[in-house]
Amino acid sequence: MLNIVLFGPPGAGKGTQSEKLIAQYNLMHLSTGDILRAEKKAGSPLGKQAQEYSDKGLLVPDALVIALIEDKIKHNKQVNGFIFDGFPRTVAQASALDTMLNESSIPVSGMIALEVNEDELFVRLLKRGETSDRPDDKDPAIIRQRISVYNSETTPVAGFYSAQKKYYGVDGMKSIDTVFESISDVVEALKK
Ligand code: AMP
Repeated sequence: MLNIVLFGPPGAGKGTQSEKLIAQYNLMHLSTGDILRAEKKAGSPLGKQAQEYSDKGLLVPDALVIALIEDKIKHNKQVNGFIFDGFPRTVAQASALDTMLNESSIPVSGMIALEVNEDELFVRLLKRGETSDRPDDKDPAIIRQRISVYNSETTPVAGFYSAQKKYYGVDGMKSIDTVFESISDVVEALKK
């Protein structure tokens, strides 16, 4: 089983690269952002609760997203592996994921981190906001807030996986196909 944590700041290209990975390796995509947006669209209590945070560019409480992921893993044991996209975003989430996966003897194979500079992120997110229906991509102040939350709360997650020798950095400033080639090189090495 191959479990990949696709890591990087908002706008780094995690969603785009996840789509390519799913097609190539037949993995199950678990994006907490996508799951929360679907809940919001459905008008569920969970969606409404999450929206209070995501509309402000803040992280949804750990307990909520951990429970979401736990449920997905529990109900999809037959898959080839998972791509975790936008999760874990805090060290508490990373630690909870380790516990969940170790219980099932299917540990994280590696974290692939897309490295993109902040100016580029800002430009990409504003551009995405022109065509997407994501309110958090339309307001420059919210975008800045999300990048700031990433720097303070999420970057320590890279250290968590580095300590386990599972961190693989990839230059996310290159073209989509070049980035995917670099990611595929890491995945092929992890498969061995
Ligand atoms: P994303 O689509 O990954 O950029 O996520 C959009 C928003 O959903 C984030 O700004 C957070 O408010 C929320 N969110 C998504 N994933 C997580 C997570 N792992 N932990 C906390 N909040 C999250």
